Amino acid sequence: MSIVPPTADKSIIDKAVADKPIYVTQPSLPPLEDFIPYLEQIWENKILTNNGPFHKQLEQALCDYLGVDHLALFTNGTIALVTALQALRITGEVITTPFSFVATAHSLLWNNIKPVFVDIDPKTCNLDPDRIEEAITPQTTAIMPVHCYGNPCAVERIEELADTYGLKVIYDAAHAFGVKYKGESLLKHGDLSVLSFHATKVFNTFEGGAIICPDAKTKQRIDYLKNFGFADEVTVTAPGINGKMSEVNAAFGLLQLKHIDKALERRREIERAYREALTDAKGISLLPIPDDTIGNASYFPIFVGDDYPLSRDALYQALKDAGINGRRYFYPLISTMPMYRGVLDGKPVSLDKASRVANRVICLPIYPNLCDNEIEVICNCFSNQSGTLVGSNSEER
Ligand SMILES: *Cc1c(COP(=O)(O)O)cnc(C)c1O
Repeated sequence: MSIVPPTADKSIIDKAVADKPIYVTQPSLPPLEDFIPYLEQIWENKILTNNGPFHKQLEQALCDYLGVDHLALFTNGTIALVTALQALRITGEVITTPFSFVATAHSLLWNNIKPVFVDIDPKTCNLDPDRIEEAITPQTTAIMPVHCYGNPCAVERIEELADTYGLKVIYDAAHAFGVKYKGESLLKHGDLSVLSFHATKVFNTFEGGAIICPDAKTKQRIDYLKNFGFADEVTVTAPGINGKMSEVNAAFGLLQLKHIDKALERRREIERAYREALTDAKGISLLPIPDDTIGNASYFPIFVGDDYPLSRDALYQALKDAGINGRRYFYPLISTMPMYRGVLDGKPVSLDKASRVANRVICLPIYPNLCDNEIEVICNCFSNQSGTLVGSNSEER
């Protein structure tokens, strides 16, 4: 069985397969020696956590970099999502998307909130604003949309609906670090936005996350909540959690921030190369470039159509066999997972578009260290309409 595309330079492919598989992402790391002075500082300070000097510095540096007013660091994005819901006292039902990483919906279950899944717009992979209104009930208190792949949600329409119905909006902005929309940070939209700094994200602190909030009072409440609810030594204001980011992670974030512009620029370059190479690939479709947006090229999704010679899963496997590890982000849909099946309670909610997208998507490798050779190898897999990855198993569909 041969899956080698006829147009590709076979020696490059052999090398890619033999040397090292290519993964969907690879974390960006600064030179190790650059981190030593930060560690020395921590050893000298003897402050390891609890809003230490690096924590304070990183909060300020991120506000400046992202162009937002207030930001509270967290140990990870999931605890930040759970805490964001607590901070706004969200209860009852929350409208959200089934096409996301599981943590989006899990944060609702951890708050005893019922997720109400609404279908997506396949042109953005984000919540379809035309379908939100019909999902609102007297129990609905908030909307939790996701800026999927860093592409902006229909923020104006969502805000309008939220204002009309008196709902809060918490964006899961885990993919949206550094995204600008209409000249401003996308993170300014909604009552709160939540970032993840997990190893696989555009900006990482090994593990980490943050809540962006519009005013100092809300930030203070969030800061209490992430520290067990402590307002001072003797006052506990709420059953808070331990969501604090350590000094090691915060210091690392400060160092990472020095390299972020270059990393984003390289990501965008790779995105352009992929777009150029794959725009005309038969049976493969791409998301339209969103209007008024400077994106972060955090993911590069492709969608495998009926006219592609292989099914999505066969293509996924063929790429894998060639040493190219894409990921099916997001598959399966959250709404099909055992802990969420029940929440639909027989209601005729159509998630057809989300299902279709989940069954067709593959995210291709994209990260700053992905080299031009590797991009060429990946693109060549799609470059010949008849050859591609068909091989001898074209009847596998
Ligand atoms: C990564 C991610 C999260 C979770 O963030 P962690 O920092 O890993 O806890 C939540 N939502 C989405 C959409 C994500 O991609």
